[in-house]
Amino acid sequence: MKQTVIKVLDQMADKTIELGRKLFKTPELGFKEFKTKEILMKELSDAGFKVEREFARTGFSVSMGSGHPHIGLIAELDAIPTLGHPHANLNDQSAAHTCAHSTQCAIMTSVIKALKEVNVTELPGKVTLFFTPAEEFTDMAFRHELITKGEIQYPAGKIQMLYEGIFDDVDLCLHLHAMGNDQYRFASDSHLAGFIYKKFTFVGKASHAAVLPHLGVNALNAFTLFQSAAGMLRETFVDEDKNRFHGIVTEGGQTVNSIPERVVYEGYVRSFNTENMKALSDKLTNAAQHCAQALGAECIVEDTPGYLPFKPCHELSLIVEENMLHFCSPDQILHDEKSVAAGDIGDLGVFVPTIQFGYGGVGGVIHGKNMFIEDEQRLYIESAKVTAMTVIDLMSHPDKVKRVVDSFKPAMTKEEYFEYLNR
Ligand SMILES: [Zn+2]
Repeated sequence: MKQTVIKVLDQMADKTIELGRKLFKTPELGFKEFKTKEILMKELSDAGFKVEREFARTGFSVSMGSGHPHIGLIAELDAIPTLGHPHANLNDQSAAHTCAHSTQCAIMTSVIKALKEVNVTELPGKVTLFFTPAEEFTDMAFRHELITKGEIQYPAGKIQMLYEGIFDDVDLCLHLHAMGNDQYRFASDSHLAGFIYKKFTFVGKASHAAVLPHLGVNALNAFTLFQSAAGMLRETFVDEDKNRFHGIVTEGGQTVNSIPERVVYEGYVRSFNTENMKALSDKLTNAAQHCAQALGAECIVEDTPGYLPFKPCHELSLIVEENMLHFCSPDQILHDEKSVAAGDIGDLGVFVPTIQFGYGGVGGVIHGKNMFIEDEQRLYIESAKVTAMTVIDLMSHPDKVKRVVDSFKPAMTKEEYFEYLNR
């Protein structure tokens, strides 16, 4: 069956590449991927698929087969603001597919079509392809509006899907993401960091900056003192956690002629260790509040949980790697990469054994205005083959899937998870 699926994917190659090009030129931000959904649905309904379920505003799934093993495939729908990209959507914050999520959609669509062609459902079990919205943590004002209206409860696609129970029946999930690193053909067992988004509002008291500075309280000074304290805390960062604390001043004062009354600093705390990430976040809150207090100011800190660190399922990675080796030599696979980037796949990976393997073929800089698809054959067709072959391996060996599922221990319960998100 694996040989046949390779042949089918080769026959489909032109259509897959054409779909990829179309999606690349239709970038939409998260929870707004309506045109993208329409393009994908057309392609899938031509191949005899019907929408099985709709969720998270723009997300949807198609499936075939029934029962278990139940293999989940993940394709992300959204684009990211990128000023100056040739295909940027000028009607909405220059959204462009510079994270190459469009390619995931084309690849996974060809995978499920090819699996249907080779009658994978003759094997017991089910395959579901989930099209997931809003992976990029951006456009927050719009998402908070949707939350206020009650259309969604959480600002990221997979978190919303976890809330809606969309993954409850799947045994494991296969996901893939384009790599920025072109030294390698594929990446396997890749980890991602998690993050917490922090907003610090330093509140002082305005007065005439030249005549009456003694009557004011300088919020910018309070922030500056906090920057020193944050710098001093960096010596407590644990090396293997790859902690980061970085941000931007989004309001630096009101007018040069007045002592700054309000200064806002927004930033991320990143880490590979969830507990240390929370502890570090609390330390920074503490430092900000006390630095402000030391100068007679105040600091209000608002935390928004971002994504959890992603830990790939090693047993699954090994199965995918065997299939990668049909297309490259062992030294062309990057192993065990620890990327300080983050994704909501991290949250999914806490509850379902999941992998996100990396594939190459992208030119320019990921998230940059010069990003483009350099090698279509390799990017679309080779990655589709690796994925389809892996699904066939898993469906042909329900025992392997059972071993993966039995050895998997969720790092927290759903209750603990939503308590963390809602705190
Ligand atoms: Zn991405």
